[in-house]
This record gives sequence, structure tokens and C-alpha cells, in this order.
Amino acid sequence: MKISVIGEIHSSGWEILKKSKFEVFEIKNFEVNNLQQELKDVDAILLRTSKLEEDILSKCKNLKIIARHGVGYDNVDIDYLNKNNIALSITGTSNAVTVAEYVLTSFLSLARKISFADKLVKEGRFKEKKTLPDFFELYEKKVLICGFGRIGKAVAKRCLGFESEVYVYDPFVEDEEIKKANCIPVEKNEGLKLADYITLHVPLSQNTKNFISTNEFNIIKKTAIVVNASRGGIINEDALITALENNQIQAAALDVFEKEPPPEDHRIYKFDNILLSPHNSALSLECRKRMSIEAASSIVNYLTDKEKLNLNNIVNREKLGI
Ligand code: NAD
Repeated sequence: MKISVIGEIHSSGWEILKKSKFEVFEIKNFEVNNLQQELKDVDAILLRTSKLEEDILSKCKNLKIIARHGVGYDNVDIDYLNKNNIALSITGTSNAVTVAEYVLTSFLSLARKISFADKLVKEGRFKEKKTLPDFFELYEKKVLICGFGRIGKAVAKRCLGFESEVYVYDPFVEDEEIKKANCIPVEKNEGLKLADYITLHVPLSQNTKNFISTNEFNIIKKTAIVVNASRGGIINEDALITALENNQIQAAALDVFEKEPPPEDHRIYKFDNILLSPHNSALSLECRKRMSIEAASSIVNYLTDKEKLNLNNIVNREKLGI
């Protein structure tokens, strides 16, 4: 059987694939024509961020599993996989902590205005520290977490460590489970109105596109800090730019964008109070290693011994009857 790796992965994942009895190769050209050609006889795909829609998947006549290197799977046509009994796995235990650390980094650096202080000292203006804007703490502040899955829960734990009050909006999680984690369940608008810090950990879908847009910015506190490390489009970027222009929020951080990479002349770049990163909040060295191992193991176990699979990582296991 043949396994294809689309995109770069850590060497630890490669070792697992190479030790298996299967033929393994890497694809570096992600154009549709090339993917259609190179994937036509593969049995498994280890996938980073390339899009795999029906135009490509329908050419893969032997495909049995796609293993996502990550947890989001909005780049894969899940309906096609379900109709054709192809498994989809994610790296569910690898990256929650890593993304949660990014959220805390963003909250703290934006609240403490770290970039302003750093610039002041490097410009030789140490004595002018009184000119720096006021900065704030996480201690006893209200944090709103939207989406209480793997990442939302990891963020909650860390915020509780800073003695913040943690509010959670997730209509699919029982209030009891939220309370058990020492957090407070809230409705979306109620949470947006009271929060000093807001972070989003919902998957991208028709329901969550524009989850934060003009109406939401109109009720969020002027002093709030808003972070999005989920998917581009969950915050509407035009509405965010308007909110920043009108000082409707204190600051924001984005790891993900509506279009990636974002355009060179994006209006978002002009603000000092926004922290941007290139969709790498889960890409610490430790996490890249864990994701490569988890994705490679899913493939090898699925093809050789399903008993060894972590079934929690198989997104469509009910459809497959496993
Ligand atoms: P998860 O599936 O464990 O949790 C998602 C949670 O969102 C679930 O509890 C679900 O009930 C909740 N939810 C769904 N729709 C909702 C809605 N309309 N309102 C409120 N809550 C809703 O997923 P996770 O591992 O926590 O990851 C969350 C998302 O983060 C992923 O879907 C992915 O897109 C994104 N992500 C981004 C990066 C990155 O590199 N920036 C890395 C990992 C994950």
C-alpha cells in the first residue's frame, strides 16, 4: 500500500511511516492537477493544510484514510469521505495546550502593552516610562471562552491559574460540565457584555462564520481584548477593523485570517494594538512532533491493526461502524 504526506512534518512522524511496511512519499506541489495525479493510487494521506475537495478525492480510488495533522478539518470534504467510507482522523491529544499557551501569551502581552514598553527601552527612552499607556492584569478579570472543547478547556485551566473568573459559552456542553471545571456557563451576548477578555475556540461552520461581527462589537466592552486562534472568518475582519478604528475594543490578536496568507495591503496591519501571527499558534516544536507522531500512528494503525487506534481521533467513526 502507498501513503502520501502532503506538506512538511516532523521527522518523528516520518520514522513511524518509514518503519511501516508501506511505500511512503512526500508531495510538495499542492496544485490541483498535481494532487490529482500523485494521489490517484494512494491508500492513505497525511494532510497538513492543503484543500482536498471532491475534484481531487474522486480520483483517489484506493483511499482508505486521511489523517489531518491538526484538529480542524474544514479543508476536507467530509460528506465525500462519509459517502465513500473513507476514515478521517485528527490529532486530538496534541495541540490544545499549545494553542492555549498562545491565548495566554496574547492576553498578557496585549494587556501589559509589552510591545510599547519594549520599543520605548530600545529607543533609549527608559526615563519616559510615564508616557506608556496604562496596562492591566488577568487577576480577577472576567474571561469569556466560546467553545468548551479540547482547547477551550485548556485555556480555562490556565486562566483559573491566574485567578480570573472564567465564563463559558458552548450550547453543546452541559452546564454541569462547565461548572465542574470551576467555570460559569453564560449565553453568548451576556458573556460578550461582561467579558474583559474574549477567546474563540469553535470550529468553522455555517453557524460560526461571522460569530463576532458588527452586532457583537457593539456590545463588547471598550476595554476588552479579543483573541481568535480558531479559524479565519469566525471574526468578521471588516467589522474588527471598524471596531479598532472606533476604539470599540482595547486590543485584539489574530492567528488566523479570512484569506491565508492575508493580502499584502491588508488594512489590519496599521494598528499598534493588534498582535498577528501566521497561523502558527499550534506549531511549537513539541507540538509539531506530537502531531506528526499522532497522525502517522493513526494511518499505520488504521491500515494494519484497528485495535490500536485511538478511536477518539477518528472523526467519522460512527459512519464507518468502528
Ligand atoms: P473541539 O471539537 O474539541 O471543540 C470545539 C467546541 O466548540 C465544542 O465543544 C463544540 O461544542 C463547540 N461549538 C461548536 N459550535 C459552537 C457554537 N456555535 N457556539 C459555541 N460553541 C460551539 O475542538 P478544539 O480542538 O478545541 O479546536 C477548536 C477549533 O480550533 C478547531 O475546530 C480548529 O478550527 C481550531 N484550531 C486552530 C489551530 C491553530 O493553529 N490556530 C489549532 C488547533 C485548532
